[in-house]
Amino acid sequence: MERISWHQYFLAQSHLLSFRSTCTRLTVGATIVRDKRIIAGGYNGSIAGGEHCIDEGCYVIDNHCVRTIHAEVNAILQCAKFGVPTNGAEIYVTHYPCLPCCKSIIQAGIKSVYYAEDYKNHPYAEELYEKAGVHVEHVPFDKSIFAKIFSK
Ligand SMILES: [Zn+2]
Ligand SMILES: [Zn+2]
Repeated sequence: MERISWHQYFLAQSHLLSFRSTCTRLTVGATIVRDKRIIAGGYNGSIAGGEHCIDEGCYVIDNHCVRTIHAEVNAILQCAKFGVPTNGAEIYVTHYPCLPCCKSIIQAGIKSVYYAEDYKNHPYAEELYEKAGVHVEHVPFDKSIFAKIFSK
């Protein structure tokens, strides 16, 4: 069996995480990596113990579901909760991060963002990444990886 690349390995993890999402509008997964090690993961969902969009419907204000914490922020907060530094880390996300997540990513000291799918890419986010010297790269995810795992 052909060896999976690092990019595809971490993106596969993010896609797997997205299956835990509880929001029906978009399922997102994020994996934070340091020195080629997964240090945290997140998906978009409600706060712990809160109602889920899949049960109660989305809580939509101004065309955004406000119930969920986004995958990227959940992954960063997991690091905060357990005292794991994010400075100099990389993040692999299923979708291009929204503007608030972009700001959190930069402020957490994350230096590279790899995303599988474009999603409402905000020009101000692009500008902020550039100013902060954050490397942003579109890495399409090879979905056939999941099929390969089960055909081993
Ligand atoms: Zn929702
Ligand atoms: Zn976001």
